[in-house]
Amino acid sequence: MKATGSCVICMKEAANKLTTTGESTPVRLFYYAEMDDNGIVYLTCEKGHTTAVVHISRKHHVLFQSGCHALLDHYTNEAVSTFSAALERAYEFFLRVAYRKLGLSSSLFDVSWKHVKAQSERQFGAFLFLFPAIAGESFELSEKIPQLRNKVIHRGYIASFDEVMEYATIIFKLIRELMQVLSDKCPTEMWAEINEGNEVRKKTVPVGMEWTYLAETEFDLTVDLTFETWLAKLRKLHEGQPS
Ligand SMILES: [Zn+2]
Repeated sequence: MKATGSCVICMKEAANKLTTTGESTPVRLFYYAEMDDNGIVYLTCEKGHTTAVVHISRKHHVLFQSGCHALLDHYTNEAVSTFSAALERAYEFFLRVAYRKLGLSSSLFDVSWKHVKAQSERQFGAFLFLFPAIAGESFELSEKIPQLRNKVIHRGYIASFDEVMEYATIIFKLIRELMQVLSDKCPTEMWAEINEGNEVRKKTVPVGMEWTYLAETEFDLTVDLTFETWLAKLRKLHEGQPS
């Protein structure tokens, strides 16, 4: 998938020129380039600099956003599949933070996870039992989520735009609720997980290559956000996407 990024070398050159000569240089702010599985965009700018942009969003956020782009282009089935993957990664993130909260190490998590990493139903089972340990209440999932997912993925059902809008709305709300629980109950562990993940990603950038971070507001919990308002913002980005 493609994502945005800026050339850090061009940015530095423009900043240096401004400091030393007082002259401002027009710099293209955004490029679209392929994002790899680590959330890193490698781009080559108009001047030929090849640089890396490390997106510090969680995987569930990246996938959810990708599902929105598919939906805005009316690829409804692709959107369902990607929204489903986003929810599954949100479960995984929750479990990783829960492990930390329970005093269990990431390496212990990884040992257990390898037995379920290819089986989403088992992952959901683990999540169902660990969620109450953190939230203090049981987890309830709308039946509409597995119903549409299974129809699309296992039976080739062609989902309508409105069906997928409803599906995305439920998942958006659900992921925000999960992140709110983590933010309320274990903020220290949540940020430790986020920061560790960012460090691991950063290390995959080839030695010697210039790189920068790109932070995005992740389902911003500080405001009362609906899927419609979030999608409206993304639509502007989607429409301005260069080919
Ligand atoms: Zn450049």
